Amino acid sequence: MSSKTLITEFETLLGTDNVISDESGRMSYAYDAAVLEPVLPEVVLRPTTGETLGETIRLCNENNMPVTVRGAGTNLSGGTIPESKGAVVLTNGFNKILEINREDMYAVVQPGVVTAKFAAAVQEQGLFYPPDPGSQAVSTLGGNVAENAGGLRGLKYGVTKDYVMGVDFFDPAGNLIRSGSRTVKSVTGMNLSSLMIGSEGSLGVFNEIILKLVPPPATHRAMMAIYDSVSAASETVAAIIASQIIPCTLEFMDNVTIRAVEDFAHVGLPTDARALLLIEVDGHPAQVAEEAAQVEEICRKMGAVNIRTAKDDAERNSIWEARRAALSALARMRPTTVLEDATVPRSKIPHMVRAVEDIAEKYNLTIGTFGHAGDGNLHPTIMTDRRDKNEWLRVEKAIEDIFDVALSFKGTLSGEHGIGLAKAGFMAKEVGEATLDYCRKMKAALDPKGTLNPGKIIGR
Ligand SMILES: Cc1cc2nc3c(=O)[nH]c(=O)nc-3n(C[C@H](O)[C@H](O)[C@H](O)COP(=O)(O)OP(=O)(O)OC[C@H]3O[C@@H](n4cnc5c(N)ncnc54)[C@H](O)[C@@H]3O)c2cc1C
Repeated sequence: MSSKTLITEFETLLGTDNVISDESGRMSYAYDAAVLEPVLPEVVLRPTTGETLGETIRLCNENNMPVTVRGAGTNLSGGTIPESKGAVVLTNGFNKILEINREDMYAVVQPGVVTAKFAAAVQEQGLFYPPDPGSQAVSTLGGNVAENAGGLRGLKYGVTKDYVMGVDFFDPAGNLIRSGSRTVKSVTGMNLSSLMIGSEGSLGVFNEIILKLVPPPATHRAMMAIYDSVSAASETVAAIIASQIIPCTLEFMDNVTIRAVEDFAHVGLPTDARALLLIEVDGHPAQVAEEAAQVEEICRKMGAVNIRTAKDDAERNSIWEARRAALSALARMRPTTVLEDATVPRSKIPHMVRAVEDIAEKYNLTIGTFGHAGDGNLHPTIMTDRRDKNEWLRVEKAIEDIFDVALSFKGTLSGEHGIGLAKAGFMAKEVGEATLDYCRKMKAALDPKGTLNPGKIIGR
């Protein structure tokens, strides 16, 4: 079918308003939050029902048109950079919360539901959906599942994969595949839901997602521990975990990040501090009081020069506002921001922080480090200008060094931002060629035409 006829077919299927073929319209979907070259797709499609979503995928596959599904496009690994002869399929018209079941504590959603809206709807029903990526105000649940997104609460509550009870999805031929169920226990058949989590749109397109909900914690206490040495702060992280207290959140910020955030958000951060830990414990009131006291004691013992405990919700919110502002604040410093995601076993946090400082010095770069220290998931963030070729070469080398160091500590290439295009070339370093080959065979068997998000994760 000629591409003109195909576009007419899509218009008949989806309505002309849901097919974008003009250049300026397509341009908005040529890039995502990763620092990679944009690619203009051939067409942008917006199905609004399961039937038309499946039919859209089938038509694309039949006509050898690669498909890149796009939620909010906030991924940081090039996961939604399309093919030039391909379609971008938007999920923002496919965004209904189909069920929130209080009795059995689960919800069924379409993939385009925005994460924070879902969390708020669940909260209104007296329940809790913990995964809270920093992008939650715009990210979608489909994108979260496809990237296995984590968040500030990952340390205690886990990440998206810990809340997925089932996923219905379309295979490349447009067949609806079912996996999982609404029951807490379900071992029927192969665990296809797990295969789909983190598959970054390369194995199937989500139609409906069943998510586990939990009771909300009765209370919480947030605090900020201030340090005049980075190593004291990072060693505190290891000490808290070693003491077997699991705060719901344990975040780290270095001085570059603290200054950038304060300049941006004016929340009263101590700009002369070398590092900060932002910590929250939650649960039963008695347990919260006991754990908060223990955490405070550990922080002091490890060298915190000051500890501020939030007295009320307003103070607690300003602590978390500060943390959530970190990336936006750093991004204002230079034209290009490269947010890395290397993750190490938690006991290696002090080593990783030091290694990043050394790498910044070695390549004469400004790197701000913040992140989910309690998970070992740091975000060394390089502030640069991609137009400066010389500096960009140093950035590329620094990124490689950061990965190498993380892997040498038995860490991983990505704690939460996925592999996409950005890190596909590094995969063999972590998993080895045999593993990549296994994944490529699986992809070829399930998607013989390479329709779904080609080039992502396993390269070409
Ligand atoms: C400021 C900022 C802060 C961030 N903080 C965090 C954080 O704390 N934790 C974290 O994990 N990530 C974070 N991210 C990264 C990103 O927001 C997450 O990966 C998020 O899950 C992406 O959701 P999205 O809806 O934007 O998905 P997109 O970026 O649109 O897509 C991501 C991937 O999912 C696939 N996909 C989307 N919908 C479907 C579907 N229906 N079926 C199959 N595949 C699909 C896409 O093809 C793509 O490969 C952050 C990003 C930014 C910009």
